[in-house]
Amino acid sequence: MSKGKANTIAVQAGINSDKHYGSVVPAMHLSSTYSLKGFNEKREYDYSRSGNPTRTSLGDVIAELEHGSTGIITGTGMSAIHLVCQLLSADDTLLIPHDCYGGSYRLFTHLADRGLFKLLVVDQTDANALQQALSEKPKIVLIETPSNPLLRVVDIAAICKAAKDVGALVAVDNTFLSPLLQNPLDLGADIVIHSTTKFINGHSDIVGGAVVTKDAELGETLTWWANCIGITGSPFDSYLTLRGLKTLPVRLKQHQQNTDDLIAFLQNHPAIERIHYPGLTDHPGHELAKAQQKGFGSMLSFEIKGGVEQVKTLFAKVKLFTLAQSLGGVESLISHPSTMTHAGMDLEAQKVAGISQTLIRVSVGIEDSKDIIEDLEQALNATLSAE
Ligand SMILES: *Cc1c(COP(=O)(O)O)cnc(C)c1O
Repeated sequence: MSKGKANTIAVQAGINSDKHYGSVVPAMHLSSTYSLKGFNEKREYDYSRSGNPTRTSLGDVIAELEHGSTGIITGTGMSAIHLVCQLLSADDTLLIPHDCYGGSYRLFTHLADRGLFKLLVVDQTDANALQQALSEKPKIVLIETPSNPLLRVVDIAAICKAAKDVGALVAVDNTFLSPLLQNPLDLGADIVIHSTTKFINGHSDIVGGAVVTKDAELGETLTWWANCIGITGSPFDSYLTLRGLKTLPVRLKQHQQNTDDLIAFLQNHPAIERIHYPGLTDHPGHELAKAQQKGFGSMLSFEIKGGVEQVKTLFAKVKLFTLAQSLGGVESLISHPSTMTHAGMDLEAQKVAGISQTLIRVSVGIEDSKDIIEDLEQALNATLSAE
């Protein structure tokens, strides 16, 4: 029986699963170990690194929302990405976008430097460069769309098709949109990765990750590795994430409304040089985003006029916005990709990726949009008179 639409699945996660006491909200199982029924008679769970009921509930619901077979919960988003790297041997090639998440870029380049696999870094919006890279027959192609921090959009279905032609697996980091706004497995991907730290938990009080596979056998392999390396997520974080997930549908509605309001304001502000947001009709990925996403999301970036003084002034003046990395929480955050999220990329790589010193990234929260706009307005106004 179908459990209903995505919003319903998110809200109903784990509800009424307690057969013992009938608790409506699922219990949190903190025990690290589980008794055997008798000699060589195992129960469903034996040891919490290998399996835990609270973590299973979360993995199952994220897999269901992504239309996959297996959901693996890891301690962080980075460990979810690292888990996928376990599929690579020294002769295998991983193909990544040139503007992927800074932490992912750091992980891939350092593992590749140690000879654990080969790495190809390409601008995936450049069809020729992509085709040439695929001709080297990578084992895995990683996609991140919309990208961080420039919100570039790539065609998941087209890349999956081209990747299939050369026998590559496709993994999509779907963190920026959440399973409610984009489902890469439906577009032909094999693996979806989430940093659950962001929208899925949504309250900035855990770090966590998830890997969802379409294929059950691939799911088994990665489940085996997650236990083997010991990167499975904690029951407490899983519990909090299940709790956060229930309000994802209503949070996303408010995130979207506030983002639409903020964009309308930014478009008319004299301190703004350029806005990067797929919801704008002149964004190069607008039509694609409209087709493959169920919403444009609440992440955006913009360049301000001037230089480093203007950037400093903006960050000094904001009051409602918190100067912090991360995203997807209920509170509005503002950050400077070059010195924060993307510091793991050297300046040359940043330049190639299009990350300038005046680029500002915003994660729009669910506060009242009038307050959000008022705060940015006074801070942007101050940059106009900064020397
Ligand atoms: C935050 C983030 C990660 C890393 O997740 P952590 O939970 O911080 O380890 C990976 N990819 C994207 C797109 C992210 O935003």
